[in-house]
Amino acid sequence: MKAPADLILLPQWVVPVEPDGALADHAVVIQDGRILDVLPAAAAEARYDAAQTLALPGQALIPGLVNLHGHAAMSLLRGFADDLPLMTWLNDHIWPAEKQHVSEAFVRDGTLLAAAEMLAGGVTTCNDMYFFPQTAGEAFLQAGMRATLGLIVLEFPSAYASDADDYLAKGLALRDELKDEPLLSFAFAPHAPYTIADATFGRINTLAEQLGLPIHTHIHETADEIQDSLKQYGLRPLERLARLGLLGPNFIGVHAIHVNDAEIGLLAQHGCHVAHCPSSGLKLASGIAPVARLMAAGVNLGFGTDGAASNNRLDLFGEMRLAALLAKGASGDAAALPAAAALKAATLDAARALNLDSRIGSIVPGKRADLVAVDLHALSSQPVFDPVSHLVYVAGREHVTHVWVDGTLKLNNRCLVDLDPDDLAARAAYWRSKFIAQGQS
Ligand SMILES: [Zn+2]
Repeated sequence: MKAPADLILLPQWVVPVEPDGALADHAVVIQDGRILDVLPAAAAEARYDAAQTLALPGQALIPGLVNLHGHAAMSLLRGFADDLPLMTWLNDHIWPAEKQHVSEAFVRDGTLLAAAEMLAGGVTTCNDMYFFPQTAGEAFLQAGMRATLGLIVLEFPSAYASDADDYLAKGLALRDELKDEPLLSFAFAPHAPYTIADATFGRINTLAEQLGLPIHTHIHETADEIQDSLKQYGLRPLERLARLGLLGPNFIGVHAIHVNDAEIGLLAQHGCHVAHCPSSGLKLASGIAPVARLMAAGVNLGFGTDGAASNNRLDLFGEMRLAALLAKGASGDAAALPAAAALKAATLDAARALNLDSRIGSIVPGKRADLVAVDLHALSSQPVFDPVSHLVYVAGREHVTHVWVDGTLKLNNRCLVDLDPDDLAARAAYWRSKFIAQGQS
């Protein structure tokens, strides 16, 4: 007797990530939102009685991409202030604009806009850091996207919270409220060593250990940040965090551009993870992370888009290709970050950093069905010798045709299923007019 299934997908190739490589003429069987089986297509039809079967000829089916660092709501600041270095960009443009406009409505609209862009581009999970994370969480749930919500902490007041204690209290309360949502998980998100005091880091470290949550923070993004830390604390930021006991397998350091050999050793020794954001590092002229050296030392690495204000795309296919090329160019080693490793970093390794690798990140029976179909039909993709190579060096987000999160269809033939593009565009235009009015006042 045949076993029941909700859906059988029949792509030309399954690229499971675990193990490396591509499986031709295989089926992926989905039941109750999880991957039930991966097996030869002929065997699937004999073994399963599916409510629906979808053929995906010429397509590669991959695990949903995991954006390991972003500020989703900042999609509303896309192109607001370009061609500036980090501290000028933050102090003179981004922070004043946020101070005036950031609210629950801004975060709701910006997060929905970002979720639409990410889902359409094959990103099914993101690790987010922004004000009003509860509102962001509600927007991610509305979009049906998986997210790790950053319980953001800063020392200075914002429309969201008054001081570090208030940020922490609000973060803990929202986690209590949303912790049973299967698509949501949580991380402490102290903004950066230059915006967080030792005592606050200490509290966060204790809470993260008690609750078993990751700590997600910007680290060694610019050379100036390191000089300022030496002046203020007599220590480089990573050294300071190491002394405070923050480095460990739950630590996700974003950027890690200006790291010396000793610091790479420190990150590796403590089992830390790095969110590499190559476009943002280049656009703000912060620099290029030493990816080949980090990986050679054994540091686990995923890719992030950062916010749309410093990228200006939330395009993980773009980050994957750029990361693979930069790793080679910067190290002088064409074997650095090969295609299979880049795809793994964008999926399973990023999921591991978020402690979600038992649930997502590869196409393996038992995991949740977060899946993306990528069309390799186009003339610009011909011929296909190796689909894994094509996914990194040839394909772009425009080739994504179907996306499932937790077994639910979110993108159908390039059309968003649950989100209305016209409505999102109207909301973006509304916020643009508010920012322009501010600039004229
Ligand atoms: Zn960032």
